[in-house]
Amino acid sequence: MVSQFSVKKVYIQTYGCQMNTYDTEQMLQVLATKGFESAKSPDEAQLIVINSCSVREKSETKALSQLGRFAALKKSDPSKVLAFGGCVGQTEGPKLKKQFPFLDLVFGTNNYRDLPEMLDEFTPRWNEIGGDEERDLLVPSKRPEAKSQAFITITNGCDKFCSYCIVPFTRGREISRSPEEIVEEAAVLVQQRGVKEIMLLGQNVNSYWGKNKQGAFTSLFQLLELFQKESEGGKLNGLKRLRYTTSHPRDFDEDLARAFRDFPVLCEFLHLPFQAGSDAVLRKMRRFYTAKDFLRKMELVRKYRPDIALSTDVIVGFPTETRADFEETLRVIREVEFDNIYSFIYSERPYTRSEQWVDDVPLAEKKSRIHELLDTQRAISKKKYSEDIGQIAEVLVEGRSKNNASLWTGRTRKNRVIHFTDEVPGIAPVKEGDFLNLLVTDASHSWQAGELPLKEHQWPAA
Ligand code: SF4
Repeated sequence: MVSQFSVKKVYIQTYGCQMNTYDTEQMLQVLATKGFESAKSPDEAQLIVINSCSVREKSETKALSQLGRFAALKKSDPSKVLAFGGCVGQTEGPKLKKQFPFLDLVFGTNNYRDLPEMLDEFTPRWNEIGGDEERDLLVPSKRPEAKSQAFITITNGCDKFCSYCIVPFTRGREISRSPEEIVEEAAVLVQQRGVKEIMLLGQNVNSYWGKNKQGAFTSLFQLLELFQKESEGGKLNGLKRLRYTTSHPRDFDEDLARAFRDFPVLCEFLHLPFQAGSDAVLRKMRRFYTAKDFLRKMELVRKYRPDIALSTDVIVGFPTETRADFEETLRVIREVEFDNIYSFIYSERPYTRSEQWVDDVPLAEKKSRIHELLDTQRAISKKKYSEDIGQIAEVLVEGRSKNNASLWTGRTRKNRVIHFTDEVPGIAPVKEGDFLNLLVTDASHSWQAGELPLKEHQWPAA
């Protein structure tokens, strides 16, 4: 077997949400302590890791197909070490080892810190499904590759057990990190890496309930308050933007709505998944709110922050969903006018309650509904994005546009992507991490265009 000391380059293929991206960063950090460097491609890596996602059937299938491609690489170079981790590793670990004997290692969502030892011993590790044992959540990150934006996981796991969701089985019961540890990690990112925007992550961040050193509990509102205080000349001096995702409508209360008005560091953007507009479907989903409750929360947040940008998740074709149920979803979409929706066709997930029900909405009908939903939303998104035309927007520069290298890309506080050019004589070169005040000149349903501001506006922004 290959010892860890002969494996120096690691390539990690990541699937799924920002939490998996964060876990990949943590894996790189753990492996860096043992001398591993990040490889640009799987060909140059001696260690190849798949960090999988199982929230949707499609992402699980993608990870398994990728495993097939990596297996071919291993066949041509048997010294390569192949590891499979993340959510699919957590729930399907023993099965995967049997099904794919060429896999050297399989591990679960909470075992990536054991990677160096696993490489020594070549023993797979995963926690018991749904195990609720106390876990030391994460090592504080120093992430040398951190840019001006960074993620910090504040909660892991979920106690809600929505009937369609595999997360409580892949990530376990919900646990919250201590507020001190979170602020320490943020301070490292802000002070040592120049991070300006932080996204707090968790499956359900608004049920955050972290115990501090004195044994007292801190809510998400109190954590946001702490970030605000520390960003005003404290440990987080230099932090300009704070966001969080994802949230559950049940746990979104008036304090959290008020935070958007009272804490300037908190960006005017909220992602709050409503999943379906029909109360009958919401009941079957075990979401424990009605469409009316959700709409009231939308009103509440707009009361405190009228210009807030909103986004959401929607599942189409849940078992028993009728055309009339789907119309209710469209009604909510039209009434709220989200900036964006992330919509998914329902697919059965193992271990969940809904797996036992008949998946009775035909695929063709699911597809037709999702197209209708997306067409409806596209028109709304274009309207929302166009509202800023003629206004000045504060933009954090993210880098060159992926599709057009002559353009730059940035993000506004409302999380809207904006493209612009810096080809103006006499202007200092733009770079990633700059804040600019741009005049919004055009908009589509997914981006805005910006240009040099009028004379009276700053370039770049303070
Ligand atoms: S709240 Fe979110 S993560 Fe938790 S079970 Fe429901 S859908 Fe899954």
